[in-house]
Amino acid sequence: MECDVRMSRVWTALLGVERTVIESVEIERATGTGGVGGGESVLVVGVRASRRAAGRCPHCARRCRGYDGGDGVRRWRGLDLGSTRVYLQAKAPRVRCGEHGVVVAAVPWARHSSRFTRAFEEQVAWLTAHTAKTTVEVLMRTSWRAVTGIVTRVVAERGKGLDRLAGLLRVGIDEKSYRRGHKYLTVVVDHDTGRVVWAADKRDQATVRAFFDALGPDRTAALTHVSCDGAAWIHDVITERAPQAVICLDPFHVVAWATTAVDAVRRRTVRDLRGSGESDDAAEVKGTRWAVLKNPENLTSDQKTTIAGLAKANTQLYKAYIAKEQLREIFTIKNDPERKDHARALFTGLLSWCDRSRTPEMIKLSATLKRYRALITNTLDHGLSNALAEATNTHINALIRRSYGFHTPAALIALIDLTRGGLCPPLPGRS
Ligand SMILES: [Zn+2]
Repeated sequence: MECDVRMSRVWTALLGVERTVIESVEIERATGTGGVGGGESVLVVGVRASRRAAGRCPHCARRCRGYDGGDGVRRWRGLDLGSTRVYLQAKAPRVRCGEHGVVVAAVPWARHSSRFTRAFEEQVAWLTAHTAKTTVEVLMRTSWRAVTGIVTRVVAERGKGLDRLAGLLRVGIDEKSYRRGHKYLTVVVDHDTGRVVWAADKRDQATVRAFFDALGPDRTAALTHVSCDGAAWIHDVITERAPQAVICLDPFHVVAWATTAVDAVRRRTVRDLRGSGESDDAAEVKGTRWAVLKNPENLTSDQKTTIAGLAKANTQLYKAYIAKEQLREIFTIKNDPERKDHARALFTGLLSWCDRSRTPEMIKLSATLKRYRALITNTLDHGLSNALAEATNTHINALIRRSYGFHTPAALIALIDLTRGGLCPPLPGRS
């Protein structure tokens, strides 16, 4: 079907494209290739760039001289209309840019080197940030690999010209392992917004220095607090680059140490019970695993019963569990002078309880906590909120789990920036 000017306007509105001329609209029977079922009806819209948008370099948007016809006609997947798949079809000529050489000319309806329209990509990115992976794949009829490519392009465009490092006062520097602990990312979070503001492949001093380089001397001097885990090599770089900043330990790392200790107590208890032939009791303690490691507010009612049973039957494990929970509580005490002393006193009490517990794992935990006491006291005194940092941490861990497999660090960082870095686009057609 040929398109006159009026129909062309209707179609550009329906497709959500700009600076685009509609030339034809056809329903086509798919041949069963390229992931489209054979016999499925698809809508193919013939388009071209408007005169003003045509013949431009995709990198600098300068108008360029034509070079050749490129690979001929190409198709871009658009948003479905109703339940019908949509493709935009156009010639993809090449131009010669003075700066960027011979390149396929930019098209107003799609990002450079993408097989999808802008609207399609924005919807996929928005969904990726808001819903489960499988939902995105099924709803948008696309692969996870294509999704990560889309997210990478959208995030790169939205991050351009945006200063994500402006106005930072309190940041957390964290290392995140991926590929089952074989690879690492360094991630920097703004404590006041919970946003990821910077991320890079690898974890080493050079990577942490690269963050401070990106921040620059003035903004580095404005930092008041930097939190991190217990790794001394990070502390060294912070002291070197931002000597004025108070170094704190992120509470979720400290609580994680306690959780590890509780689990060690549980495993030893199981071993001891088995060794003395009490296999029923051993199985019962073994079954407490999730109950003792979870935060109490996340316990199911069965798990609450488990904890209550533990209070009667197994004193050592129960006490270790209580100590872990008390440590978590101490970090929720708000930052005001009166309560500061309260938090310190509770922490000191906890240390001496661990020391007197006659539980080797808790004595070891106490030794670790004492080693980092100065940094933990900083955290308590300055009331660094755990809630935002912990939520971001948990979310990033979930992203790493779900993108496990075939991802490059760049794709993983793009996913993190999309969901926790504030770079998620609005749905197409909304603002
Ligand atoms: Zn150019």
